[in-house]
Amino acid sequence: MDITKTNLLDLDHKAMVDWFVKMGERSFRASQVMKWIHQRGVTDFGQMTDLNKLLRTTLENTAEIRLPEILSEHISADGTYKWLLRLDGGNCIETVYIPETDRGTLCISSQVGCALECSFCSTGYQGFNRNLSVAEIVGQIWIAHKVIGFRENGHTEIPTESLSASSLRSGRSKITNVVLMGMGEPLLNFDKVVTAINIMLHDDAYGLSKRRVTLSTSGVIPALERLREVADVSLAVSLHASDDELRNELVPLNKKYPIKELLDACDAYVSGSPRKKVTYEYVMLDGVNDSVKQAKRLVKLLEGRPAKVNLIPFNPFPEADYKRSPKSSIDRFRDVLLASGLVTITRKTRGDDIDGACGQLAGQIVDKTRRQQKRAAIAAKG
Ligand code: SAH
Ligand code: SF4
Repeated sequence: MDITKTNLLDLDHKAMVDWFVKMGERSFRASQVMKWIHQRGVTDFGQMTDLNKLLRTTLENTAEIRLPEILSEHISADGTYKWLLRLDGGNCIETVYIPETDRGTLCISSQVGCALECSFCSTGYQGFNRNLSVAEIVGQIWIAHKVIGFRENGHTEIPTESLSASSLRSGRSKITNVVLMGMGEPLLNFDKVVTAINIMLHDDAYGLSKRRVTLSTSGVIPALERLREVADVSLAVSLHASDDELRNELVPLNKKYPIKELLDACDAYVSGSPRKKVTYEYVMLDGVNDSVKQAKRLVKLLEGRPAKVNLIPFNPFPEADYKRSPKSSIDRFRDVLLASGLVTITRKTRGDDIDGACGQLAGQIVDKTRRQQKRAAIAAKG
């Protein structure tokens, strides 16, 4: 591997135009090469037949298309896919694809681990290692596209000797939606995430509409304002509580950015577009945040705001101190919200049998925050 080569997966259209112009090429080369990489899934410059031979050789010497490596693939009984991907440096991340009748949603990661320590989240539990590069964020889409396309063309087995997606023949994929709801807090990897979003939206790459790309955040207020200026994709916000005291405990970031300020920032995010709403995510934790009183308080908080609510049944993981609310409590909570006129849906639990559901995406990370050791030391002291 030559580390001086530019990984073209790191470049959005604008950056790729600049890159070609700097090497004395015409700017339309950026569109040609982006289409080869993202739409046709080609990583070999030799196959890019609308580039002249000299340019293909120059690209071979100066650029590369380097992807994460697929370590394993799990397919759930309900059709959900989960890939464990290995990155440079040995860390792993997970990516999940959820097929439904009318759409296919890809859930991607933005960081290795997460520093924000939400008490109900397995990614947060593991600590933080590093931000993903643009290539690593976009690479998840590239790989899913390729593998899903391959399968939809009637192939059941990936060649096992190497789970390398670049060796698969291309197919059409049904990925219609991308959600930044995997590992990590996307707004704490702002520049890389925005560049990756640019690639998701660009017509020469994945051509997704802004509406179909959703960024989920635990509420980094200053970054929300910036996001609206540069990307303006759909927004989901992890609320999980209707009062600051409880939210401080569940989402410690709340101590810095409390509920009222967060909701105002969310209103501002969609202001000027009367049809847009912010999705508030609310994980249902048995006996913690699922009472009727809390539902009524949530109604009060969101009344009159451009809001809809997504109730997420808690997905347990071994170290978790919480239990999933029973269906009866989730339904009761939902009914209070619905009665007030709030659009509310309960998220289906998909991929449970392969640990592919929200908050379970763990990978294997080297915890730079040493959170796991600290915890073990506290436990040993009793
Ligand atoms: N960091 C971002 C995005 C990744 S988490 C955020 O917090 O929004 C994606 C979603 O999964 C969030 O709504 C998060 O609160 C939720 N989640 C985390 N752990 C969960 C768990 N164990 N069960 C159910 N949902 C969980
Ligand atoms: Fe990080 Fe989101 Fe998990 Fe909180 S819920 S620890 S912000 S990944």
